[in-house]
Amino acid sequence: MQFKTLFFIILSVIVFELFIVFFIIHTDSVKSDTVNNCDAENLFYNYQDTSASDSIDITPTASCSETSGQKYDDIYIKDCYENRIALTFDDGPGGSTTERLLDGLKERNVKATFFLIGESAKEYPDIVKRMYEEGHLIGNHTYSHIQLSTVNIDTAYKEVVMTNDIISDITSCCPIYIRPPYGSYSDKLLAKINMTPVLWTIDPKDWDTTNVSSIVNTVVKNAGCGDIILLHDIYDSSVTAALEIIDELQARGFVFVTIDQIILE
Ligand SMILES: [Zn+2]
Repeated sequence: MQFKTLFFIILSVIVFELFIVFFIIHTDSVKSDTVNNCDAENLFYNYQDTSASDSIDITPTASCSETSGQKYDDIYIKDCYENRIALTFDDGPGGSTTERLLDGLKERNVKATFFLIGESAKEYPDIVKRMYEEGHLIGNHTYSHIQLSTVNIDTAYKEVVMTNDIISDITSCCPIYIRPPYGSYSDKLLAKINMTPVLWTIDPKDWDTTNVSSIVNTVVKNAGCGDIILLHDIYDSSVTAALEIIDELQARGFVFVTIDQIILE
């Protein structure tokens, strides 16, 4: 009887342990599914309907230097034709400022690229959805605007993946482009996240001024084919400047595209 009881206890312990092991493995796999729910078919590749941009009347007047492809970081190989230029907006979504920008972009039939902060995307899911539905490209700008090169790889990875998941939950598309805050990242992280970093070629430092004319002038005087303009849609002055920049550069024959149509990977 004692032996039977002992045997029963041992058996119960083994079964219990097996159950615990199974539970841990299962939870991990569910967790990793959730963390990596950016499945291949959901990536932000060619999701856009390009028919609208195809209908833009292109009258090239801006000049394209043949050597323009060499003046920037070698991450970018500028695909400089049709006077393409890209507007990119960081640090959003920013509530009413972003909504005003989206209204202005829609009126002008312009597609832009938004590098979103995860925690802001979580706060404004309707704006993120609207960006996606209106054909803008959405990229990752980390969850809390962290400087990726100053934290350990696990923290950096988590910042990126959490943001991808939030965006992917809202739009069903997983970002493939990342703009690292302050332009700072490590190659090790890049290899781990398998995303394309996108920096910029024109920075009017709009976060540092509310002077719309100064932002517009800096961009317009430096604008060339294949440029990537950095702005922030969380400031009213930046939004006003962005719309003026579009009007001025469209008048000069530039065509605004999302960054996937400018950079070659
Ligand atoms: Zn930023």
